[in-house]
Parts: sequence; structure tokens; C-alpha cells
Amino acid sequence: MSDLHTVINPATAKPVIDVPLASLADADYAIERAHAAFPAWKALAPGERAALLRRFAAVVDAHIDELAELEVRNAGHTWGNARWEAGNVRDCLNYYAGAPERLFGRQIPVAGGVDVTFHEPLGVVGIIVPWNFPMPIAGWGFAPALAAGNTVVLKPAELTPLTAIRLGELALEAGLPADVLTVVPGKGSVVGARFVTHELVRKVCFTGSTEVGKGIMRGCADQVKRVTLELGGKSANIVFADADIAAAAASAPYAVFDNAGQDCCARSRILVERSAYDEFLSHLEPAVLGMRVLDPSDESSEMGPLISSQQQATVRGYLDEVDVAFAGTTPGGDGFWVPPSVVTVEDPAARIWREEVFGPVVAVMPFDDEADAVAKANDTEYGLSGSIYTNDLGRGLRVARAVDAGNLSVNSHSSVRYWTPFGGYKQSGLGRELGPDAPMAFTEEKNVFIAH
Ligand code: NAD
Repeated sequence: MSDLHTVINPATAKPVIDVPLASLADADYAIERAHAAFPAWKALAPGERAALLRRFAAVVDAHIDELAELEVRNAGHTWGNARWEAGNVRDCLNYYAGAPERLFGRQIPVAGGVDVTFHEPLGVVGIIVPWNFPMPIAGWGFAPALAAGNTVVLKPAELTPLTAIRLGELALEAGLPADVLTVVPGKGSVVGARFVTHELVRKVCFTGSTEVGKGIMRGCADQVKRVTLELGGKSANIVFADADIAAAAASAPYAVFDNAGQDCCARSRILVERSAYDEFLSHLEPAVLGMRVLDPSDESSEMGPLISSQQQATVRGYLDEVDVAFAGTTPGGDGFWVPPSVVTVEDPAARIWREEVFGPVVAVMPFDDEADAVAKANDTEYGLSGSIYTNDLGRGLRVARAVDAGNLSVNSHSSVRYWTPFGGYKQSGLGRELGPDAPMAFTEEKNVFIAH
């Protein structure tokens, strides 16, 4: 082990604990051990692999509060979110525990024999996790990857390693064999980059910024390494005048300010039909001002701090360029706070309209008709999620089909359900996670022909 990283509580700016960062040699060692563990894990009877994943889920379930408390302190997440996130790891493990016994191939009619297909695991999978949702994003990678028979090396973000480290311990406690799931805390430029260059890592699952993701994809090309990318977003919340405007405005803050806006699915652009624009803003203001922005150690907090002083400075940089229409409050103190802030925008070229702020800032713009709404929603290089509020279900479906994004919801802001596929269009990503097909993304399809 080389360096230490001091984990900081973002609500107080106080140190929590020092975590050793893995060196290049540590990363190589973890990858080699994962490679050595692969044949036995792959050969395990499907029912036994399923049982181990269910046991892992049960152990996570028994530690929900402990994991949540770590995330409240490490990432500044609210208690409600942190408990949901730990529960999501458990649910993913249970859901994908159904996969080992259902990795069906096909029998394809051909002349002269029998043709069957198999889904074979890839080997070692490297999962690179960002700091915004440390637990769920780890689980979306490791649960289906393990279910499909791969071994996993997982690198948490430097800023948020604590829950991943604990999940690695809980996997062993649940009886997963050593080196099947290894958590390697370290720098992206060292450990993350090694997942890309090491020949024994057969797939990289990356969630993070679009810029780093492009570099990973370029790096993976050298070995034709499989890669899944979940990147940034600038998603639109489209509100038509026929919707329940008061209800749409009351829910809009939670669709962008949840996790202090550090959410790739944040609906950070609100498009409102012009005839309802003033009414919408008049309802949005009290909803934003009423948000409970508190130290997340307070159970009633609805929004916590940003992850770091650097992220706080970045977000403030965006706000310095614009006139804020209205903003909520913060508890102040040394934590990395930014109030939930609303900006009205007329120029679609404005930086705040185009770039992912990744903080509690939402930009609002009017639109004229359905075609204008779709054109404005699609005027971005991102395409991760989005919402449509309307009482006309036909329009809801039409617009959902017309918006170029991977995850749309009508009269709802939900994006991520572990039962359904998740991922981005355009520069928001490549490939899909979650849903029934996720384990397949961690396999090669093999075709075998047997002559009669
Ligand atoms: P980041 O790209 O800086 O870091 C993400 C991870 O990559 C970290 O673990 C980091 O250590 C690692 N990393 C950094 N440089 C690397 C390199 N050269 N090689 C390999 N690994 C490297 O992103 P971040 O700031 O931690 O996360 C915020 C970003 O993540 C936002 O842009 C957000 O939209 C995106 N995000 C996307 C999704 C999604 O599902 N689409 C989900 C969450 C976050």
C-alpha cells in the first residue's frame, strides 16, 4: 500500500478515517487473484452460485443501518436515501441470484445436426464506481457479473470508499470464496487505469464523467476489451399545460435536488409549456424554499451537502455566471453546502442550460408546442433520462418515444428500477445495466454445432 486518503464528512468538512490507497502492484495482485479464483467460481453449480448470492443479500440486509450510516458520514447522503441505497444492493443480489439457474441458451434449427448456444462468463470484470451513488452503482455491476460466473475487482471512488470496503467484507462473511469479489480502493489514474490495461481484465464497467469514460473506451480498444459506460446527463422534465401543474411543480425539486443534484439522472432542465409557465414557477418557488436542507445526520433532512469543496466550487462557478431566480437555504457551517437554486434561461446556448452542473441547480425554460418541447429536450449531446408531465396519455407516450434518452417516465420522475434496463443514448453511455438482460452483458455467446 502506498498513499493514504483521508475520508472527509462533507456535511462538516471534518476527517472521518484514513483509507490506504492501493498501488499498481496491489491492483495487479488483486487482478491475478481474481483470475485464479475464476475457474472454480465459473464451475460452481448454478444453484450453489445462486445460494451464495442469496446469502450475500441476506448479510447485506442484516447490515442495512450500518451501511447507511457509513454513507451518511462518507457521502453526506440523507438517511432515507442511504437506507434505500443499501437495500438496493440487497435487492440486486436477490434479483440476480435468479440468473445462474436461468442463463438460457438457444437451440437453433440447422441442417445436419443440432445447434445450441451457451452464455459463458468473461473472466475478471473490473468495475469503476463514482462517488455519487457508491453502493447502488457497485451492486449494479457486481451482482449480475457474479451471477453470470465472473469474478470481480471493484474500485470505489477515492472520495467514497467506505461502503464498498464493507460490502467486500460482507461478501466473505456470506461465504463467497476469497478473491471472487475484491474491493481495491485507489486512484482512478492508478487502479482504474490498470483495469483498462491489464490483459486479465476482460471487461470494464465504468460509471463516471463523460470525459474519463471516453478515455476508458479508447484504452479498452487496444485489447478489444468489453466496456459498459454510464456517463453524464442533462435530462429534461417536460411539463405540458394540461398536466396537474401544482403537482408537477411540487415534485420537480426532488427530481433534480435529490442527492444535492449529484445524480446523472437529475432533471436539471425543466421545460414548461408557455401558457403554464408563470403558474408553474409560482408553485415551484414555495416547493424549493420548503426543502429541508439539513445536516444529513438529522433524519428529517431532504438534501445534504455536496461531496467536496471542489464540487462546491464548481457548482458556485456556474451560479456566479447567472441570476438566480430563487433559492432555498442551507445550514451553513464548514460543510460543502450549496442551496437548491432555480435559474430561468432564455438562451439555449447558456452554459447552465448545456453542461452537466452535478449540483443543486435547475434551469427552467418555456416551450411553445409539442414539437418545440421535443426539439429543445433533444438539443443536447446527453440522453440519459427525462420526465413528461401531461394528462394526455397519447401525448405522454408520443413524447417519451420522441425524446432521445434511455430512461423516460410519464407523470413520474423514476429512472432506476433494478427490474428494468438502465443506460444512456448519445454521450450518456454505452450498453445497459440492470433489468433482466444484465447478466448477458457479462457473457460471451458461444455457438456449438453437433453433427448428427
Ligand atoms: P470521474 O469520471 O471523475 O470518476 C469516476 C470513477 O472513475 C472514479 O472511481 C475515479 O477514480 C475513476 N477514474 C478517474 N480517472 C480514471 C482513469 N483515468 N482511469 C480509470 N478510472 C478513472 O467521475 P466522478 O466525478 O466521480 O462522478 C461524477 C460523474 O459520474 C458525473 O458526470 C455523472 O453524471 C456521472 N455518473 C453517471 C451515472 C450513470 O449511470 N450514467 C451514474 C452516476 C454518475
